[in-house]
Amino acid sequence: MSTIFSDLPVTIFEVMSQLARDHDAINLGQGFPEAAGPEDIRRKAADAVLHGYNQYPSMMGLPELRAAISAHYAHWHGVAFDPMTEVMVTSGATEALAGAILGLIGEGDEVVVFQPFYDAYVPLIRRAGGIPRFVRLEPPHWRLTEEALRAAFTPKTKFVIFNNPLNPAAVVYPREDLELLARFCQEFDAAAICDEVWEHVVFDGRAHIPLIAIPGMRERTVKIGSAGKIFALTGWKVGFVCAAPDLLRVLAKAHQFLAFTTAPNLQVAVAYGLSKPDAFFDEMRRDLQRSRDRLTDGLKSIGFPVLESQGTYFLNIDLAPLKLNEVDEDFCKRIVVEHKVASIPVSPFYEDNPVRSVVRLCFAKSDATIDTALERLSRVL
Ligand code: PMP
Ligand code: GLN
Repeated sequence: MSTIFSDLPVTIFEVMSQLARDHDAINLGQGFPEAAGPEDIRRKAADAVLHGYNQYPSMMGLPELRAAISAHYAHWHGVAFDPMTEVMVTSGATEALAGAILGLIGEGDEVVVFQPFYDAYVPLIRRAGGIPRFVRLEPPHWRLTEEALRAAFTPKTKFVIFNNPLNPAAVVYPREDLELLARFCQEFDAAAICDEVWEHVVFDGRAHIPLIAIPGMRERTVKIGSAGKIFALTGWKVGFVCAAPDLLRVLAKAHQFLAFTTAPNLQVAVAYGLSKPDAFFDEMRRDLQRSRDRLTDGLKSIGFPVLESQGTYFLNIDLAPLKLNEVDEDFCKRIVVEHKVASIPVSPFYEDNPVRSVVRLCFAKSDATIDTALERLSRVL
């Protein structure tokens, strides 16, 4: 038996986390925070379990959560979504992505994909019969260019999949790049599936701008978010999709046969969390920015070239100037065994002509964990 899925390798996140377990290493690979997560939100979920939120909730999501998502985006991004016709709750952003790709992309549709890409996109696009057309983004700035978009868009382009802030590059796209992409989507009459799970994790006073807010994109964009990232509760797998009613109706058809619904107690807790005051989100960003700076400064002081991290839980180091004679995957596999620090090589986020010198590290960890990892990494060079 051979299918697109049977022939895939195990995802790099699981490969590196398993190596971290095998070698009792500090795991700065897969992106999950070390902290337990906000206690009041966790308590809400526990209380909801004890007080009866245990049966199937409605397929589209609890009305209180859909209302909270709509209010949250109106407040943070100035985009109004009708909670009844334009908002759906999913079991993680992963389910939302799968629903959008399987639900919307048809046989022979061309899909513009930016690489480095989150690893779920391409197998799902191929399973849906779509044909990925890659746009290569390069360190250190990872910006979109007119020439690269012109080479990728064709009259057959039906969709673009766009991740902003971009994992693993840790770049937050400015309005200029979004307007460029929006211009191409409109010229080629393409829709956009926008993975914005990192929307709240942006640093140095940056603001996340959703593609759906760019003129001309409101009716042709599917906006995907994740409570896992917003609240540092990555195991919860509560995602959400916002889109114009005609698009959302199709996604709902896919959702009914993928997960159908999502744990109701977690939905109650996420609705509570989304309604928190701005200070909560600002503090989360401040804490993560402090951890980013601690890891950045420590890595620089021991001689690693660090690329700027504008958002996400990640920063990247560029091995090229170190002339180690070792590609990213070999470097990551060596340091987890020899130095007991797990990281993620960036080349698996490319399908063709990968960038092989960049390694991703997660800084959503305690100061003590970051310091121990730095101490171990100081022996690498
Ligand atoms: N997209 C991107 C870019 C991600 O980084 C992640 C998870 N880290 C996801 C989607 C999946 O989100 P979830 O855990 O909500 O399924
Ligand atoms: N999104 C997380 C990361 O980029 C983990 C994803 C996963 O484990 N599938 O590390």
